[in-house]
Amino acid sequence: MAKLYFRYGAMNSGKSTALLQAAYNYEERGQHVLLAKPAIDTKGAEQITSRLGVTRDVDFLIRPGDDVRSLFAEHRSRLHRAEVDTLIPDHGGMSIDVACLLIDEAQFLTREQVDDLLRIVVLDAVPVLAYGIRTDFRTQAFPGSRRLLELAHTLEELKTICRCGRKAIFNARLVGGRFVFDGDQVAIDELSADRVTYESMCAECYLRESGGRLG
Ligand SMILES: [Zn+2]
Repeated sequence: MAKLYFRYGAMNSGKSTALLQAAYNYEERGQHVLLAKPAIDTKGAEQITSRLGVTRDVDFLIRPGDDVRSLFAEHRSRLHRAEVDTLIPDHGGMSIDVACLLIDEAQFLTREQVDDLLRIVVLDAVPVLAYGIRTDFRTQAFPGSRRLLELAHTLEELKTICRCGRKAIFNARLVGGRFVFDGDQVAIDELSADRVTYESMCAECYLRESGGRLG
């Protein structure tokens, strides 16, 4: 049975690296995958970029109003057509299909789009692996992450370490090197006079920097 997986972690927990590794594992077995991500992430435009330097183009971007199940169906059938065009002789008469849909930056999906992911899994019988950050810099769940936490069959945490050595669970925001605890959920780098950065932190270090504040 296909499942919806949510693999979440703080920033810098290697989510994109894990996603690209998962894609590679499928393809090594001769299977096909589709890669997608929300268009809101400006970091890599149409690419998934891991911090290790591996980069790969997505098959499609998901814009805020998009119906993800339709987009998926469109790209799935394109894969079928590609198979017919090339008349691949040696796959045992089996039709080429998508073995898995992989989503990067899934925290930026809308609630409705995550609902679509569950429909893809259950009604179209294709596993979906969604990777994302659980909470924003004020410790509030991103909309996509909240819905994934509600719907996913399987939750898996990708771990990273705080400066103190404990497991990091929050993402503190720095503007010009100083911690800030107010602002929009998504800060667009290019629009900021001071460069916005983030530090993955444990709850203890976060509360020390925020003076006890959460959100
Ligand atoms: Zn810490």
